Amino acid sequence: MKKILTDLHTHTAFSPDGRASIEEMLATAHALGVGYYGITEHFDFDIVVNGIPPYSENPPTPADTYFQRGRQLQKEYEGRMQVLIGGEFGYTDTPTAQTMYQRLVDAYHPDYIIQSVHNVLRGDYAFGNGYVDGKGGLRDKQEVYEEYLGLVRRSLDVSHPYDILGHVSYCTRYAPYEDRRMRWQDFSGSLDDILRTVIAKDKILEVNSANKNVPVLSLPDTDILERYFELGGRKISFGSDAHFPSRIMENRQKIVDILRAIGYEYLTIPCRGEHIKVEI
Ligand SMILES: [Zn+2]
Ligand SMILES: [Zn+2]
Repeated sequence: MKKILTDLHTHTAFSPDGRASIEEMLATAHALGVGYYGITEHFDFDIVVNGIPPYSENPPTPADTYFQRGRQLQKEYEGRMQVLIGGEFGYTDTPTAQTMYQRLVDAYHPDYIIQSVHNVLRGDYAFGNGYVDGKGGLRDKQEVYEEYLGLVRRSLDVSHPYDILGHVSYCTRYAPYEDRRMRWQDFSGSLDDILRTVIAKDKILEVNSANKNVPVLSLPDTDILERYFELGGRKISFGSDAHFPSRIMENRQKIVDILRAIGYEYLTIPCRGEHIKVEI
């Protein structure tokens, strides 16, 4: 096993909320010495099928242009940096989204897929949705986080392929609570169910460094990563969730030190159904 720098969760300007061109993101990653660099543009059919207002006023990721340009650049970087052209799929309970994701997979064959929950039916947590009840009152944290974890659990049973479970505890990023953390001990039943399912289905648990000022180093937090290890989970990936160059690989070393202290010995890179191990 070789020690290689990896960042498997990043976006470019093809995504509605990406802020730098694919060329600029790749050049930065290469300059930083990244060995495996994954681009995972947003595909938000959860928003489309539910008629939820889009993430921003910008148009959705143009699949044709993204995959075409991505594949060209993947070739250009061959031998210098392994570029993976993937996607981040937003989960919803509305089943028609799964058919749309399957069609996207059949048409473009992404190298790998991150499965993520961003939306409750009310909209993206990033815009404050899910935390407030119909009368404008703040909902109970336990109830909101359990609702989110229910969505995450169901997202693991989709019919389309996916490789990585993205940023577990995403709902904490934008939560209005004084204590925003999601601790394993407070949600142990739901979290254990999710972690055991990730292991049983041979998926990869993402360690995401975009904490958005939640006082944790990663999503999910260390206690949840410890529990995953304890349950036998070994497949993890690192993702910065960078939407602009300066966040690429952010906090990677700190996170890797913690993962090593827990006992993890390798990171897993998914590529077209294959799982590649690299030393942590
Ligand atoms: Zn995401
Ligand atoms: Zn993302």
